[in-house]
Amino acid sequence: MLNEMPDLKPRILAAKNIVITCHVSPDGDAIGSSLGLYHFLKGQNLNASVVVPNAFPKFLSWLSASDSIVLYDQQVEEATALIKDADVIFCLDYNETRRTAQMQEAIDASQAYKVLIDHHIGEPTWPDVNLSVVGASSTCELVLDFINAFEDKEQTLPTELAYCLYTGLLTDTGNFQYAATTPKVHIQAAELIAAGVEPDLVHNHINNSYDEQRLQFFGFCISKRMKILKEKKIAYMPLSQKDMHHYNVQTGGTEGLVNEPMKIAGIDISILLKEDDGKVKMSFRSKRDIDISVFARTHFNGGGHRNAAGGISFKGLEATEKDLLMHFSNFNIS
Ligand code: 5GP
Ligand code: MN
Repeated sequence: MLNEMPDLKPRILAAKNIVITCHVSPDGDAIGSSLGLYHFLKGQNLNASVVVPNAFPKFLSWLSASDSIVLYDQQVEEATALIKDADVIFCLDYNETRRTAQMQEAIDASQAYKVLIDHHIGEPTWPDVNLSVVGASSTCELVLDFINAFEDKEQTLPTELAYCLYTGLLTDTGNFQYAATTPKVHIQAAELIAAGVEPDLVHNHINNSYDEQRLQFFGFCISKRMKILKEKKIAYMPLSQKDMHHYNVQTGGTEGLVNEPMKIAGIDISILLKEDDGKVKMSFRSKRDIDISVFARTHFNGGGHRNAAGGISFKGLEATEKDLLMHFSNFNIS
């Protein structure tokens, strides 16, 4: 990996200030890869910081050094200064800088050497070095490749670092279920477990950490908001801001909800529509060969992976639902 880029390692080792960034509304892979790389660079005695666009879900706050993450929207001055002073910026789990939302301007303006590590579909030309592999399970998988390639000698990873990377492997493969769960992913998981990760502990932090109200909210969404287009094998759920206020939904509180309708036999596509101050955020999931990222990109200004994508609409919730139905009426699942 690094052999083809002889400049990269010396540049990183010579860097005075390194900033690690990820996409807005960071998920387990975004935070896991950022903190995993942070621990690695710190271990190399480098000065590294993690700067992310906005808050991450509470179920990730147990990860070591998560309290050192700088949130751009809440700590603008500190975040801006860190980005401005960086000589190397790692861009993790995104391949368009607009995915960093309010942080985009600062990243675009920075003259730092930009190293991209990502696994989403795209052919970005803006990074100085692109270590992305489209179709890889997760950015954490690629960060582990990067770490292993960086050190010439065999190494045992610090457990705190291993926990971060295991988190991204687990979350981005949907608990090792999705098609990207290759033999390599399991080998890497084994490497991380050998470094001290206790898999049940991660699973409990990530998947078994709902509060009562969150599970009730999921129940409400499934029983009162889910709509099924049986012929089309599609399920979708429009959620209003009122619904989310009623259940006191916090950042990350809808994480995983879009996957629930996928549990129905005969449903091949699930879509979550979340109303959010004049816009509607959308999550798409599909099974097997259905490439839902094309649909998200074509109709809803989004993108992502074949079976998991996101998008946005700047119309109201009802109008977005109408648009969705219209686009689906022209959509043929093979
Ligand atoms: P989620 O539905 O979990 O928010 O996102 C599913 C996948 O699609 C993630 O890998 C996420 O990074 C990607 N994604 C979500 N929203 C967008 C978007 O607006 N644009 C692009 N290119 N990718 C997105
Ligand atoms: Mn990812």
